[in-house]
Amino acid sequence: LPAADMLPEATIITIIDGAGTVLSRSTDAGKFVGRNIRNVGMVEVVLFRRNGTMRATSLENIEGLYGYVPVPGTDWIVIAGRTADVALASARRAALSSALIGFTILAGVLLLAWYFAKRIAGPILDIRQVAARVADGDWSHRAPHAGPLEIREVATQFNHMLDAIVAAQKRQLESEQRLRLAMEGSRLALWDFDLVVGQVYLSETWSELIGGPRQETVYRVNDLLAGVPPEDAKAAHDALIATVKGMTVDFSVEHRFVGAAGNLIWFLSQGRVTERDSRGRVTRMVGVCRDISERKATALEIERLAFYDSLTELPNRRLLMNRLAQAGLESRRRHQYFALLFVDLDSFKALNDTLGHAQGDALLREVALRLRACVRDSDTVARLGGDEFVVLLGDLGAETHQAAHHAEALGLKIGMALENTYHLLNATYRLTASIGITLFDGDDVDDINQPLRRADLAMFQAKADGRNTLRFYDREMNARLLARLELGNELRNAVAQSQFILHYQPQVTAEGRVIGVEALVRWEHPQRGIVSPVEFIPLAEDTGLILPLGRWVLEQACIQLVAWASVPELMHLTMAVNVSAIQLYQKDFTATVLEIVARTGVLPTRLKLELTEGVLLKNIEETIAKMRVLREIGIEFSLDDFGTGYSSLAYLKRLPIDQLKIDQTFVRDVLIDANDATIAKMVITLGQSLGLNVIAEGVEQAEQKSFLLKHGCRSYQGYLFSKPLPPDMLAVFVKEQFLVTDSST
Ligand code: C2E
Ligand code: CA
Ligand code: CA
Repeated sequence: LPAADMLPEATIITIIDGAGTVLSRSTDAGKFVGRNIRNVGMVEVVLFRRNGTMRATSLENIEGLYGYVPVPGTDWIVIAGRTADVALASARRAALSSALIGFTILAGVLLLAWYFAKRIAGPILDIRQVAARVADGDWSHRAPHAGPLEIREVATQFNHMLDAIVAAQKRQLESEQRLRLAMEGSRLALWDFDLVVGQVYLSETWSELIGGPRQETVYRVNDLLAGVPPEDAKAAHDALIATVKGMTVDFSVEHRFVGAAGNLIWFLSQGRVTERDSRGRVTRMVGVCRDISERKATALEIERLAFYDSLTELPNRRLLMNRLAQAGLESRRRHQYFALLFVDLDSFKALNDTLGHAQGDALLREVALRLRACVRDSDTVARLGGDEFVVLLGDLGAETHQAAHHAEALGLKIGMALENTYHLLNATYRLTASIGITLFDGDDVDDINQPLRRADLAMFQAKADGRNTLRFYDREMNARLLARLELGNELRNAVAQSQFILHYQPQVTAEGRVIGVEALVRWEHPQRGIVSPVEFIPLAEDTGLILPLGRWVLEQACIQLVAWASVPELMHLTMAVNVSAIQLYQKDFTATVLEIVARTGVLPTRLKLELTEGVLLKNIEETIAKMRVLREIGIEFSLDDFGTGYSSLAYLKRLPIDQLKIDQTFVRDVLIDANDATIAKMVITLGQSLGLNVIAEGVEQAEQKSFLLKHGCRSYQGYLFSKPLPPDMLAVFVKEQFLVTDSST
């Protein structure tokens, strides 16, 4: 307001707001600015009527004339007043009637009040207008710089404020834009979790990531969690609790979420607490989600490759060892027995070679399925490679006997399951398995390889005990295994270095005439001397070394036969050579034999191949075909160990064989065991009825020979006549016999 001296004499202008508070006053007498004067009698009237004139007592208690008008656009009121005596004095000087004077003066005062109201109101209205436009979203207008000083000041401040807001808005807009572009580019979904109301806001990217239309979404937190599979929801919940309780600063969890198409998508959700209430409780968290499905898939694939066998999809050795280590700890903690079963298929190698690898693979897959079907979900079935499988059984209780019983029962179950016929590509196969079992508890698993070694060892024992059986680990096996392992390595060397020789055991007639020999291989071990084939033939068969070894034996026997052919006393001898199943199953078996015969120039009619019954029962048609090819050129066949197998008469009739060889176990007890005697007699009868030659092996006593002769067996082999001999001694033996029989006739 203008200073008092700029106003007409004795004039005071006061501005009050609607509540009666003094906003401004042209005189500072009494310092009324800021005070509420609504209780002053005249102000009450002013506030009530807002517009008019009156004669009243001023704030300073001076009688005066007053005019008052409201300031448009505000609840302010301008009051103009003049002290009555001054006002009236000038009027009196004009000598007018007091009434007229009073009226004139009052009108003047009112005019004064109106003038001031207008001076204030204009700029204020302008500011109001600008404010109204801003409210409508138009930030481009500014309040004019006009009116009284205070109003100008207000306008300036107001404009500054608008400028600052506009600048800040612009900055924010830019940074938001940057953020949005970055978020869209990185495919990050933003989430904003209001813990007070339990709602989660999710940005548009989220809806896109889960395969829905692009839109912002708001979830109740429980609805959101319902889309997370239970196994992940717990992890998410735990991570949230940890963050809310302040145990971790950052919230971070990997979880899946059911997408719009019902598919599961892997997400990594990360965030932080952004707001807390006055008591420190978390009220808001903000963060991002990203789709990590691809990364997860890669991780799973790597895990699959690292821990699973690609053929059978069973755990591999690495995963088995992990589980075994866990099982060891668990068995110790809970005082429980665990068992390890080592399952090895019998003669799978031979089968795989004859069938081809595709069929072999199919067979292994079927074996894997059958094994899985035998055990509980919590047990592990692993494939170590080749035809070796391992079953890890948990929770067998604390009692040794019972644990062993359970493990054995499962072993038997597995044995039976694997024995059932396999139907593959129109063909059917049969398999058996040798199973080694070891029990272990926490006490003996400091070395996690140990249970596996023991089960392996027991499996070897099962093989050695005739296959298709199961054995528990015992301590003596260890020593045997070590010896066997050593032997295996040495055998490999021996084959390479030809450390073998052949001994020949005579086969004689009832008259004692030597008609032939059986070639029996020996290993001339550089340290151990002569090693028996009983020790190394099964090993050679398991390792496949029997193939080069068998070829060498046949070739050597042929060479020997050719050498004898030029010696008059020896030229009539036949040569029996043992042939293993694995050799016979080779596709090129006949070709190999024919090639050796051709190369050595041996007379095929002098050659006899000894096969065991078991060999012939598998793939019978193929075997018969092969035998026929060789018989065509005069090679004969003898059925070795006859009586120990289970060939039916029907099969026997179809086999192109020339000789039955009564097994030595029957011959040994032929005089003491009525049963064996019966079997021996039956074999002889059978041979005669089929028109086959019958020879008895393992004849040690003259009485045995007499018994056999009495029942019609006229060929023998055994210690009674001679042990197997090196070739030079064999020659001497035959010549002597020749002389004896020659001179006796
Ligand atoms: P096999 O074919 O049944 O051979 C007979 C075995 O009985 C031989 O043992 C022989 O020495 C032994 N024997 C002979 N007469 C008597 C006797 O009066 N009393 C006793 N107690 N035993 C007698 P050997 O030479 O130790 O051969 C054992 C087995 O090794 C053979 O049994 C045969 O299955 C296998 N074998 C030997 N040489 C070869 C070979 O070159 N190739 C293949 N695949 N297997 C062979
Ligand atoms: Ca034999
Ligand atoms: Ca035999």
